[in-house]
Amino acid sequence: MTQRQPPFELGPIRPVAEARSLLIRTTRGCPWNRCDFCVNYQDMSFSIRTVDEIKSDIVRAAEHYHGHQFSSCFLQDGDSFLMKTADLLDILHFLRAHFPSLERITSYGRAATMIRKRPDEMRALCEAGLNRLYCGMESGADAVLERIHKGVTAADIVQAGLMAKEAGMEISEFLIMGLGGRELSEEHAVQTAAACNQIDADFVRVRSIGVKVGSRLEQALERGEYELQSEEELIREQRLFLENLDGISSYYSNDHAVNLLMEVEGRLPAAKERMLALLDRFLQMSAEERTNYKLGRRLGLYGSMDDMQDTTRRRHVAARVEAIQQQYPGREDEICHFLRERVV
Ligand code: SF4
Repeated sequence: MTQRQPPFELGPIRPVAEARSLLIRTTRGCPWNRCDFCVNYQDMSFSIRTVDEIKSDIVRAAEHYHGHQFSSCFLQDGDSFLMKTADLLDILHFLRAHFPSLERITSYGRAATMIRKRPDEMRALCEAGLNRLYCGMESGADAVLERIHKGVTAADIVQAGLMAKEAGMEISEFLIMGLGGRELSEEHAVQTAAACNQIDADFVRVRSIGVKVGSRLEQALERGEYELQSEEELIREQRLFLENLDGISSYYSNDHAVNLLMEVEGRLPAAKERMLALLDRFLQMSAEERTNYKLGRRLGLYGSMDDMQDTTRRRHVAARVEAIQQQYPGREDEICHFLRERVV
């Protein structure tokens, strides 16, 4: 495949799992653009591209990638479901005609928009090829959703997830550990698990909070209205969340570098005890070991807790930790957060 700049419009982001996918832009930005933690489309006004514009991009993409057999296409940006269903169906048919090797067409799924579609429209979209959605649940606790201005309730999120599943779509629900801060931590963990238990998504994808520079959450942090948790508190929150997942067969993953323990993944319910044991393994380390691991991990020197068995690597991390502690005494959690924010 050629590396030339594509001669068609591209949006700024795509999900991690869509790194090798064809990208086709159907909308620009996000129609809501008010979630406190999100800066993805902050300076962009929302618009729906016309069917003609999108089709001419598809034609250009087919010429540009001539002969490349894409198996997946991601529809950018934030809210493809805001297109009229007939227009979106038209685009999906056109896309598959020009890229017949596509097995999956994927999109972000915004609950507020999805619940305005009828079940038969959702089924038609799935049958036309839109068969995988990335849904930003973030939290299943209304107190947290309200505080971060998500613009939907937990009931909306559950309804949207169930609608997509019933239509035959594969769904990933994304959750942010630490989004409720210290104050709402327990509520966030328990009620998010309850929402996940109702949906039974194909994937439950956990992310740790990283407060982005320029976000409204950063302003809340500065005003003292939001209290960041330590790495240990975030893992305890994740433990409570995982412990409360019940009766579902989702694949649970920490598949983003922002997570401290990326090795915590597996199919529920079989892998639940093993995953809880991994979280406990971190929590039961001595304070010194935890500091060694969390700073080593955040500095990119460890990939998982098993890497601590490598004595040369561990000594190297210990030397870096000592230097950090001398320069910034008692500020390990702040440094971890600073490094975490860089990879969100
Ligand atoms: S999190 Fe999603 S819905 Fe919220 S502002 Fe960002 S893109 Fe829009």
